[in-house]
Amino acid sequence: MEARCDECGRIFTAAPQTRQEGEIETTFFACVHCGRECVVCRTDPGIRVLQAQVERQRRRNGERQRQGELTKRHTGHMRRKVNQLRAGLDALNRAE
Ligand SMILES: [Zn+2]
Repeated sequence: MEARCDECGRIFTAAPQTRQEGEIETTFFACVHCGRECVVCRTDPGIRVLQAQVERQRRRNGERQRQGELTKRHTGHMRRKVNQLRAGLDALNRAE
């Protein structure tokens, strides 16, 4: 993925990297020209659990849909998880 650096304005290939600081894992890109970092997102253990649950749910619901077994209960459960995840990400990524 190509990105334009906010700092020096040059184009570079953005390779996502992660860094662990205590319980917080930060995903970021660094400009190869000036070293400026662009944070993609931060996650904590609770959020990473939710991400795994949402991913699992998404796969299961995909299965159910193919078999005609997807119900409102399944999609509602999924939506609640996604909202929970989004709220967690917002709270954590705002907190700086
Ligand atoms: Zn740069």
